[in-house]
Amino acid sequence: MTNNAERLQRENKTVGLMIALYCKHHHQYENSQLCPSCEELKAFCERRVERCVYGTDKPVCNKCPIHCYKPTKREQIRAVMRWAGPRMLLHHPVLAIRHLLAERRPLPPRPGKKHRKKSETHS
Ligand SMILES: [Zn+2]
Repeated sequence: MTNNAERLQRENKTVGLMIALYCKHHHQYENSQLCPSCEELKAFCERRVERCVYGTDKPVCNKCPIHCYKPTKREQIRAVMRWAGPRMLLHHPVLAIRHLLAERRPLPPRPGKKHRKKSETHS
């Protein structure tokens, strides 16, 4: 596995933990189960990471210039990040610091639109 793929997995894990932390304090988080809306948010975030146009070169979402989140989901995740961000340092310091370091990576060049097959663009 490449470093980048590991980094993406870690990002997903970090986001999942942040949502769990938030849910525990704000919703009906029980038996390590997220409430339905947080569960959905988490699945949504994982899908976004998977489908990011940057692929494995993806910057952390809050630094990304491409706003692929729907406005409602964007607000939801921002509320979670704002609340859980500082608490992550207490609960999961290693992940939190790694995430902060990842935020400092320079942005990769923005990839172009999806490549078309040569036969389609050939005139
Ligand atoms: Zn919740």
